[in-house]
Amino acid sequence: MIQLYIPLNFLGVIYREIKQSLADMERLFSLLDQNREVGDAPDARTLLTHGATVKFSHVDFSYESKRQILFDVDFTIAAGSTTAVVGHSGSGKSTLSRLLYRFYEVNGGAITIDGQDLRSLTQASLRHAIGIVPQDTVLFNDSIEYNIAYGRPGASKEEIVAAARAASIHDFIESLPDGYASLVGERGLKLSGGEKQRVAIARTLLKNPAILIFDEATSALDSKAEQAIQAELKEISRSRTTMVIAHRLSTVADADQILVLDHGRIVERGTHQALLAAEGLYAQMWERQQAKGDDDLASPAPAAA
Ligand code: ADP
Ligand code: MG
Repeated sequence: MIQLYIPLNFLGVIYREIKQSLADMERLFSLLDQNREVGDAPDARTLLTHGATVKFSHVDFSYESKRQILFDVDFTIAAGSTTAVVGHSGSGKSTLSRLLYRFYEVNGGAITIDGQDLRSLTQASLRHAIGIVPQDTVLFNDSIEYNIAYGRPGASKEEIVAAARAASIHDFIESLPDGYASLVGERGLKLSGGEKQRVAIARTLLKNPAILIFDEATSALDSKAEQAIQAELKEISRSRTTMVIAHRLSTVADADQILVLDHGRIVERGTHQALLAAEGLYAQMWERQQAKGDDDLASPAPAAA
């Protein structure tokens, strides 16, 4: 069922994309390229989750053979808990999320979910279990309803509206002349960064995954809009296994665990309070962000090549 469905869904996407801009095409094919690197093993099994404990065991990774990106990355996200990953731009944070989604294969070590190695699983079942709210949400040139329903094709209108309500975007959609049928994307209504994020959140709520990844999901927003959405993200992530890649440290202070990544290595880990007390890299970054007022981590590490 699922096996048949995914390719058909992909074809649907391709058809839509062909109708659309070249920029969209490029994005799609780069996605397909990434997928091509990783396939299902002949005996691939369906992921079975019981709470979804995510474990990275001594993971090494390089995109290209000459340059190693991750070094012996080792951590566990306990079922239902939240782990934040912080570090300067280029330190490897997004790479962690791509590996968990299995866009790429690890070069050393292993990643497991409830003890099942990602390499032993079908892509379809893995991706079914993971919802990503990315930094930059891409909307299809289609109705806002389609864009939300993309999280779970076949969802009923009631389910779509419920997801939109939970993501605090329902009232906005209702205020549009065409409501849920309003066209969005490059050819339609241009939504603000915050509105797009809410669509992405609604999509993810509808998908209802066991594992959530927020990759700097609110970095495009100003502090006030970020705070509002942050509260929603926290609500969604309650009782789900969550990886938050953070831009502003103030948004991760209450994570169960914070990992500090530096040039591909975990150099510190602990709670916000413990990391402040340790007076290491995290404490430095925190102080710098506090001093700047705008707690922005986007600038590269001073030592980065
Ligand atoms: P972060 O999210 O912490 O800013 P990334 O995980 O995106 O960092 O990137 C880590 C390193 O990997 C960077 O040096 C980046 O240039 C490199 N990198 C990211 N994607 C690719 C890719 N597709 N091919 C080669 N190198 C990449
Ligand atoms: Mg990143």
